[in-house]
Amino acid sequence: MIVAIDGPAGAGKSTVSRLLASRLGWTYLDTGALYRAVTLLALEQELPLAYGDELGLLARNAEISFSPGPGGAPRVFAGCREVTEAIRSPEVSAAVSQVSAHAQVREALLAHQRRFAAAGDVIVDGRDIGTVVFPGAEVKIFLTADVAERARRRRLELAEKGIGVTQERMLAEIEARDAYDSGRDVAPLRAAEDAVVLDTTEMGIDEVVSAIADVIEERRRG
Ligand code: C5P
Repeated sequence: MIVAIDGPAGAGKSTVSRLLASRLGWTYLDTGALYRAVTLLALEQELPLAYGDELGLLARNAEISFSPGPGGAPRVFAGCREVTEAIRSPEVSAAVSQVSAHAQVREALLAHQRRFAAAGDVIVDGRDIGTVVFPGAEVKIFLTADVAERARRRRLELAEKGIGVTQERMLAEIEARDAYDSGRDVAPLRAAEDAVVLDTTEMGIDEVVSAIADVIEERRRG
């Protein structure tokens, strides 16, 4: 079964997906990490972020892979180099939406994501999973929350990694990224028509995980 979890930045997709996957013993694919890894490589190679063809080629050749990490959080590799931490830097976060808006980049990463579904039962999180990558996913969830709450969550997450960002800066970054991701021509962020929309502003993580587990159980029983 494929479970697609989409939504804007900071809605809790990756935390919820990780916990859900470990609760069910399923595989988790963080598609944002693919776009982030390509962005990191582009920044390192000083490739202009407007060069779609070159970025697409970079994405095709990037050899991004995952391995299980502590607490079920996947470790991310580009070739044999671990980039788990580097792809979460503020520089990558600020540039990733520009990179992911290119059709050539999305096309290159599409095959990568679809191959992954061969793994069997999977939880996949991103922006276009239920609409473009796996339109036939059995379960589609659209997670959202107030923007201030999303900025607060993302800030706490970064603080745990020793990265300090003010609430104002976090809010500005998230709003800019949401606008970019929702406004792009190719695979914009939006809820699939058949998605279950969950507003998590007032919900705890465990509550969200249980709500999605219930939807999965319901679909499995048919
Ligand atoms: O999920 P995360 O915040 O790590 O995603 C980083 C960025 O990658 C998003 O802001 C978006 O630009 C891009 N992305 C995307 N499609 C996906 C997943 C992420 O365009 N399926």
